[in-house]
Amino acid sequence: MDLATIPKIELHVHLDCSLSYQVVQQLRPGITEAEYQSQFIAPFPSQNLGEYIHTASHGIELMQDRPGLQAVTMDLFDQLAKDQVIYAEIRFAPLEHIVQGLTPEAVVEAVLDAMTAARNQYGIQAGLILCTLRHYAAKQSMQTAQLVVKYHDKGVCGFDIASDEAHYPVDNHVQAFQLIHDAGIPCTAHAGEARGPDSVWETLQEFQPARLGHGVRAVEDPSLLRYLKEHRIFLEICPTSNVQTQVYPSIDEHPINELYRFGIPLCINTDGRTLSNTTLQQEYQRVEKTFGWSLEDFVQCNIAAIEAAFLNDHEKEELKTLYISLSGSL
Ligand SMILES: [Zn+2]
Repeated sequence: MDLATIPKIELHVHLDCSLSYQVVQQLRPGITEAEYQSQFIAPFPSQNLGEYIHTASHGIELMQDRPGLQAVTMDLFDQLAKDQVIYAEIRFAPLEHIVQGLTPEAVVEAVLDAMTAARNQYGIQAGLILCTLRHYAAKQSMQTAQLVVKYHDKGVCGFDIASDEAHYPVDNHVQAFQLIHDAGIPCTAHAGEARGPDSVWETLQEFQPARLGHGVRAVEDPSLLRYLKEHRIFLEICPTSNVQTQVYPSIDEHPINELYRFGIPLCINTDGRTLSNTTLQQEYQRVEKTFGWSLEDFVQCNIAAIEAAFLNDHEKEELKTLYISLSGSL
């Protein structure tokens, strides 16, 4: 068993940021590989999170009808299979896909139907997280949360807030998160990426997520670190993405190892496979090379990911048993 074959859990991957060249060719015939690379892969480094996110608009354009949404979903499962991912939580913002007249419900159903087909084809378990975006009005945020409630237990497993925390406040989204909590549905939230510990504190206070997307800049505040550890707030870490958006100048200065050794539960993710031109195996390899992690460290993170997954206790136990049996040769 090595980093290529080790079974993996991925909790933080954006559907609209993970289009392979093959699926883009299928949806936009004639595009050259050079055009694909310049349009779909974000600059490295990107000037900031805003420039990184802007690159996703090319993928979103191709995901405005049912065939496009379904092709991109199947394509992502193909990538997950090559990475030996056995359970994934895939996320996207459905309200970004209604430009050509699809209803938000039709958008979600297109992706869920493709996920059902892909699960059968690839044998990968997966849940769908619906994202509101920081710049959304309160009405859009609430509409997204209502979609989560409507499709929960039909394949939607949770709620998230994504996009630019540095330029948009939390105010528009507090009620949406309240609706999610009232419905007993788990949630995560992007924070501590483009802004520091104050944003993490604010996010924890206002949204009360069980997990944080990134959360890495918590490392700047010892009292926040203690809080995360004590309350078992799980961090979805995406190393290359953080270097690309210049949160850290290089992987060597990324705090993943410090956070892990401090005892904060976390796992490794790709964020945007195409935007960051990466795979989960490559993320593991970078962490191994930089911080000397052993296979046992990666297994421990994957077990922690299962415990933090948006599954019920029974499903978690089953997944853990499967994970341990698949990685049994360690
Ligand atoms: Zn993200």
